[in-house]
Amino acid sequence: MRRPIIAGNWKMNMLISNAAEWVDELLVHLPVSDEVDVIVAPPFTALAAVQDRIEKSKILLAGQNIGPEPEGARTGEVSAAMLKDAGCDYVILGHSERRQFFAESDELINRKLNIACDHGLISIICVGESLEERNAGQTHDVVERQLVGGLASVVGGQLDRLVIAYEPVWAIGTGLNASPEQAQDVHRFIRNWINKIFGSEQSAVIRVIYGGSVKPETSAPLMAQQDIDGLLVGGASLKSDSFYDIINSSL
Ligand code: PEP
Repeated sequence: MRRPIIAGNWKMNMLISNAAEWVDELLVHLPVSDEVDVIVAPPFTALAAVQDRIEKSKILLAGQNIGPEPEGARTGEVSAAMLKDAGCDYVILGHSERRQFFAESDELINRKLNIACDHGLISIICVGESLEERNAGQTHDVVERQLVGGLASVVGGQLDRLVIAYEPVWAIGTGLNASPEQAQDVHRFIRNWINKIFGSEQSAVIRVIYGGSVKPETSAPLMAQQDIDGLLVGGASLKSDSFYDIINSSL
């Protein structure tokens, strides 16, 4: 049984005061439940404020990125150990905005993944095709290439340190949603790929989550798909009430 994940990615939004308010509002309603893993990824500056507030709750903390080196002279970078120290259990890697605006390659993402694993962080690895690639019928090829490169060093025993997020680039922040059937098709493809490379036991347990303009109105039909184990939510996670509604729809 794969426990669902509902993860909020705040990107470069939220000041410390907004972040603290958001957690307080969410915790008024959030059921204490083992049925779903609720994860929030604030910007680095708000990690401590959020961690203080969620300490006694079941909400889990994620970083939005790490540097590819364990420590040292890398001005402006944040390390895996620093995220762990700040209370994070998860880190988002390979988000399409990192690939697009910071030229992150699959090879770099794989290096980050290794560091995250070494420091006990669970990586949420994002993959997904652009609109041109989808229209050219290349979706599966692109996703496979990103999986092969991003997971290049992964061995079966490390798969419990991994969550895969299918995030079609054309659906992120655009208001366009992949239909539940389109998303299910790619999630099934990803699970089959895990099966081919790592075997059936691993493919049965790995969690593959969907992201791309998810809203309370669209979350339940996505979650009803057989191979969709959760949601990565950007814009709709910025308001505690819409994030709560999305969590509720997955229970
Ligand atoms: C994301 O940031 O991963 C995301 C899916 O954003 P949005 O929900 O705003 O499309």
